[in-house]
Amino acid sequence: MPDDIPYNRAFDLEPGRAEDVAPGVRRIVADNPGPFTFKGTVSYIVGRGKVAIVDPGPDDPKHIAALLDAVRGETVTHIFVTHTHRDHSPAVPAIKAATGAQVLAEGPHRASRPLNAGEAPRMEASNDLDFRPDRALADGNVVNGDGWTIEAIATPGHTANHVAFAYKEGDLIFSGDHVMAWSTSIVAPPDGAMSDFMNSLHKLAQRPEPIYLPGHGGEVRDAPNFVAAYIKHRHAREASILHRLAKGAADIPTIVRAVYIGLDPRLSGAAGYSVLAHLEDMAARGRVLTEGPPSISGVYRLAGS
Ligand SMILES: [Zn+2]
Repeated sequence: MPDDIPYNRAFDLEPGRAEDVAPGVRRIVADNPGPFTFKGTVSYIVGRGKVAIVDPGPDDPKHIAALLDAVRGETVTHIFVTHTHRDHSPAVPAIKAATGAQVLAEGPHRASRPLNAGEAPRMEASNDLDFRPDRALADGNVVNGDGWTIEAIATPGHTANHVAFAYKEGDLIFSGDHVMAWSTSIVAPPDGAMSDFMNSLHKLAQRPEPIYLPGHGGEVRDAPNFVAAYIKHRHAREASILHRLAKGAADIPTIVRAVYIGLDPRLSGAAGYSVLAHLEDMAARGRVLTEGPPSISGVYRLAGS
């Protein structure tokens, strides 16, 4: 399928080294590269003197030490968390213990929908089930720090509790794993949901901020157009899944082989769940039929065929 998203994979920050990325924003990448994390999780420091940290990252003593080192002589007043995957939030207890900062996030980890009979919480190993914020943020909540203002933008889809953060003074958005310059986001039921993900993209598409700073990789430039390309990409994927169903494909592995040409084999499981996310969404809209609730091993066909 043609790549319609103007990806930017340029990113050569050395792990553990703080670097200015925008006025009033520093970033540090953790040393946890991989097929799902690109070069590693990016943590951000907002402000000077009395600062906020966005996404402290994995429970990696070296990354935690690097973050604390970068803010030496400053006070960390707030810790913001975009979502509760294990590459984003498990460093929170250590950073909180060292700084006394308040922890803000949408809420604890939860699935996007009730589990179906026989369905296990899928990405159990990926989820930080211990995480609890000190303060739960709802969509539109504004937090004022010393010289910075952050607005919570509820962006469920990648996870149910995903939230992006608009940094007002910088005219930019910390977009977490919802919108990234290097790749599409993974939407895997039951942790994620495609209908939520699309609604969250449409919500961001209405916003004017030109720059996004994501949880992995470098900045997203010309963000409103990039978000529009993300939306278009999902519509195209949906169309190609419908096309495959029309051609007689009836199960997820067959659809993945036809739709994801040249896929990194380490990502084939995630691709299967991404197709499931689309099928679940299309079944809810009456475009696709299956026996019982949509599942990874289900048999599918077009409605009206
Ligand atoms: Zn994530």
